[in-house]
Amino acid sequence: MTHIAFIGLGNMGGPMAVNLVQSGHRVTVFDLSVPAMDSLKREGASVADSALSAVKDADIVVTMLPAAQHVERLYLGNDGIIRGAKPGTLFIDSSTIDADTAKRVGADAYACNMHFIDAPVSGGTAGAKAGTLTFIMGGSPHAVAQATPVLQCMGRNLFHAGDLGAGQIAKICNNMLLAVLMAGTSEALTMATKNGIDPKVMSDIMLQSSGCNWTLEKYNPCPDVMENVPSSNQYEGGFMVKLMNKDLNLAMNTAADSVSTTPMATAAQSLYRMLESQGHGEKDFSSVYTLFNKHTNT
Ligand code: NAD
Repeated sequence: MTHIAFIGLGNMGGPMAVNLVQSGHRVTVFDLSVPAMDSLKREGASVADSALSAVKDADIVVTMLPAAQHVERLYLGNDGIIRGAKPGTLFIDSSTIDADTAKRVGADAYACNMHFIDAPVSGGTAGAKAGTLTFIMGGSPHAVAQATPVLQCMGRNLFHAGDLGAGQIAKICNNMLLAVLMAGTSEALTMATKNGIDPKVMSDIMLQSSGCNWTLEKYNPCPDVMENVPSSNQYEGGFMVKLMNKDLNLAMNTAADSVSTTPMATAAQSLYRMLESQGHGEKDFSSVYTLFNKHTNT
């Protein structure tokens, strides 16, 4: 039986680790949050008292952390998990971070006779719970093949984007588009409402028209149009505004490095920054709707 260590049990990592347990794998977890570990313990995972003790006997290590600085700190250095694992361990980092950090961590893993892929995800917390995430991988074909059976326990669509770091570039491009789509959908729904059209009716119309997009299908930003989405739960849970801002910063840096022009994403970034500066950084990113519709509570 493959022994998997899972580190980072937040909104995404928690349900992903549950799916690994439910697939019959031996799973050892670690998070800085004790309640997050307790909840995995109830699902049948073993709980470690540190990241190093979680990885020491593992065949595969999956990490799901907020940002690049957390990944760097956890993996690198003499007390990092690369040096604490047994030779040949495969590391899968599913956090969304910049491609250069992914390449640096991957190079260090290979220098220590380990394997590494970057495998950020798309699909949100609902996809994490349902085991239907999309994994976007960067790394060697050998490491990707080794990771595939484990990732299939947590996701439905697996893509190999290219070498180390390519998964992160593809993920950042996707999230840049998502930021624009969520803001544009909020803008259209608000204008419809102000002109007397029920937002549910307007959503149904756009779902069958050329404005249809993922936010309307899975993540409507207007409260009470859809059940079980953050907008119908005071914008709690889901994908935090501060994480979207992190991803938009990654997108802007990537755009600058590659001399790409991104006027739509630049406009969207101003909106998500405004939300965070107004104290809504911990709310779900669909709360961008409240900037257009000031009568909606966050
Ligand atoms: P989160 O903040 O809910 O969870 C992060 C978890 O990592 C927390 O439980 C935290 O305690 C833990 N952690 C931080 N440092 C740690 C360390 N050194 N050791 C152990 N645990 C540590 O974030 P999330 O929403 O789960 O997102 C995780 C990553 O996935 C981010 O990079 C995000 O951009 C990406 N992502 C999120 C979503 C989403 O819908 N939430 C979707 C796709 C991708």
